[in-house]
Amino acid sequence: MLVVMQQDATEAQIQNVIDRLIGLGFNAHRSTGVIQTVIGAVGGRVDLDAALFQIMDGVQDAKRITSPYKLATRNFRPGGTIVSVGGVEFGGPRVVVMAGPCSIENVDQIERAADVVADAGARVIRGGAFKPRSSPYSFQGLGEEGLKMLRAAATRRGLLAISEVMEIAQIPMLCEYADILQVGARNMQNYNLLRELGKARKPVLLKRGIAATIEELLLSAEYILSGGNYDVILCERGIRTFETHTRNTMDISAIPVVKKLSHLPMVGDPSHGVGLRDKVAPMARAAVAAGADGVLIEVHHDPDHAFSDGAQTLNPSQFQELMSELRLIAAAVGRSI
Ligand code: PEP
Ligand code: MN
Repeated sequence: MLVVMQQDATEAQIQNVIDRLIGLGFNAHRSTGVIQTVIGAVGGRVDLDAALFQIMDGVQDAKRITSPYKLATRNFRPGGTIVSVGGVEFGGPRVVVMAGPCSIENVDQIERAADVVADAGARVIRGGAFKPRSSPYSFQGLGEEGLKMLRAAATRRGLLAISEVMEIAQIPMLCEYADILQVGARNMQNYNLLRELGKARKPVLLKRGIAATIEELLLSAEYILSGGNYDVILCERGIRTFETHTRNTMDISAIPVVKKLSHLPMVGDPSHGVGLRDKVAPMARAAVAAGADGVLIEVHHDPDHAFSDGAQTLNPSQFQELMSELRLIAAAVGRSI
């Protein structure tokens, strides 16, 4: 941590800061410039709140320099992590396309989705059985029946399956039917759920919260990693801003930022990122161009009649076209699909 003293800070105030740092187990290095004194704090606790120093008399600013997450930081594995699931690698040279409907609706729908996804060359099918809906009156998902349908469709077409887990009690059921467990944006800070997923032995795709900073996303990942589950994939799915032309603002810059800060694979979800079908392909292309290790796309044989998120869901031909475009973009950035 660096503590910058005000220009007119007194010697007593400076000493007070130094004493406090030493009391907290830091080594304090004082550097007295012509204008201001700066105190560098080395060692001590990683979870120290810099605000405790910002509020001290004579202090202009205090900033943490080292990252507060120990296992999610890139320094932990500078070469990057490859999350390997049934022959599909997240974080390797290939960009992983995950696609399928927002919700599993019935056997016919998910089987058709599996054909569209597999025929287009994607390797993971998505589909929610437990849906976090903004309204309690909206379709809430088919639960275990839906997961059985998803599993059967995925297995028939040799695809992996990803589905959302909303609460601790659902973890064993999701582990039985899905290959990857998705934590939705609304649950990114459900720390009890994250801790339990740390004990699970299944890869977890952790979505960025609706109003979460990148640091908060990485701290949430830390909960899972610290439980011993290192198979964590991060996902940018749009954040809430003051912009109203899109459902969310797809923060493409989060992709290279996270790739630099963390060793974990990072994917993009342009469907929830923009919420509008005609903007999904441009944002998916942008995500791959920005270095995403994968994309998560909502696709349905009849999106206008989908039970949820129809407006942001591609139809099969739009998805096929997007796949061809993504192949070109991936090649342009030295990767493949
Ligand atoms: C979903 O993937 O359908 C979903 C609910 O996503 P999010 O948590 O990003 O809103
Ligand atoms: Mn959805």
